[in-house]
Amino acid sequence: MRCETVSEVCPGIGCFKAFNNRKVYFKDYDNNAEMIAFFTCGGCSGRRVYRLAKSLKKYGADVVHLSSCMTNMNDYPECPYVKTIKQTIKDNGIKVIEGTHH
Ligand code: SF4
Repeated sequence: MRCETVSEVCPGIGCFKAFNNRKVYFKDYDNNAEMIAFFTCGGCSGRRVYRLAKSLKKYGADVVHLSSCMTNMNDYPECPYVKTIKQTIKDNGIKVIEGTHH
């Protein structure tokens, strides 16, 4: 999951490359792991998250990574809603990892 605002200028290449090469926050996944979805929060205050978390559960997602644009406060403006977003995903029984490629 990534920041809707940042998605206007970022095609997501860093996230995909890190996953494809099993680097940084994806380094512990084996070759059987699949990226089955790639989406934004829907804009402040994460308005799409509740419904998406339900869909992800339905389709069997095990883990959601919050992208570096949501969690790396050195390079991006702080997301004021990240705690709530994280809890909403966890409430649906899905693990959350904070970070993707840096
Ligand atoms: S809720 Fe956070 S991640 Fe989503 S658009 Fe707003 S600042 Fe970005």
